[in-house]
Amino acid sequence: MSLASDARRLGVLGWPVAHSRSPAMHNAAFAALGMDGWRYQRLPVPPALLTETVRALPAAGFLGANVTIPHKQAALALADSASVAAREIGAANTLSFCADGSIRAENTDAPGLLQALPFDVRGRTAMVLGAGGSARAAVWALVGAGAEVSIWNRTRERASTLAAELGGSVVAEPVPAELLVNCTAVGLQGPSSAAGIPGSSSEAQALNHLALSADQVARYQYVFDLVYAQLETPLLAVARRAGVKTIDGLQMLVAQGAISFSIWTGRHPPRDLMRAAADSAT
Ligand code: NAP
Repeated sequence: MSLASDARRLGVLGWPVAHSRSPAMHNAAFAALGMDGWRYQRLPVPPALLTETVRALPAAGFLGANVTIPHKQAALALADSASVAAREIGAANTLSFCADGSIRAENTDAPGLLQALPFDVRGRTAMVLGAGGSARAAVWALVGAGAEVSIWNRTRERASTLAAELGGSVVAEPVPAELLVNCTAVGLQGPSSAAGIPGSSSEAQALNHLALSADQVARYQYVFDLVYAQLETPLLAVARRAGVKTIDGLQMLVAQGAISFSIWTGRHPPRDLMRAAADSAT
């Protein structure tokens, strides 16, 4: 794949996208590597305008773009070619604009999730909560890496479809495992309604939505919450107090962003610095 050589702009397509920490992360990496003239920006685009906007980006100097809610499936559909991961997951979070005018779609959420984990999942058990886009990437990655995966979702039908397409076993309620991965939107607001209060009602509500009790959370060795909030998520707060090792959503955000960065630039991404930029972004 050859990319347009004079393009130096990148961005993140979403609707809304004002909350995205990706510009801070990528622009910090460009500055650290002395990549003058490279810029990464938010690209707020409503669904109806996605295809025409993406088609116009290369002429405006864009080399590629990340894609977030709600465009990940549409981004895959409009691409001319796609990686195996993007095709099988059914969603793309990274587009590259090639010199021949074609658009390439990849999914870096899946490898990003594995890279965010501090251990090899081969032969380990994983309990995935959710059946939306990020759960599909998580199950695809974990099954592919050799984990034994259980899937629970509020709407069981969606979990059954996911398992039939990508593997894993559907369970009626979360079961014990070495790793718990929250791929639902529960916790998106953070524990703001009762900030800092151990055992708060927001924590109880979040656990209730996830069909878990605090005692059950304590049975996992690692709890990974894909949701990243301004404060610690309720699930991670409960896990941390129980002495369970925790992995936050920014780890995966940085990992997927770093892989996208390499795809577009061919450069080695400064991950620690990207994490620091993501931490301090608001
Ligand atoms: P999605 O496709 O909309 O899926 C949402 C999931 O959350 C579904 O499984 C849904 O269950 C479940 N859910 C929503 N509200 C719920 C509730 N009140 N109780 C129980 N389950 C509920 O979203 P997504 O793209 O997978 O994203 C999920 C979360 O992961 C978001 O917070 C997103 O920001 C985060 N994420 C983080 C990263 C990262 O890099 N850290 C990457 C991707 C996504 P039903 O099927 O029953 O509706």
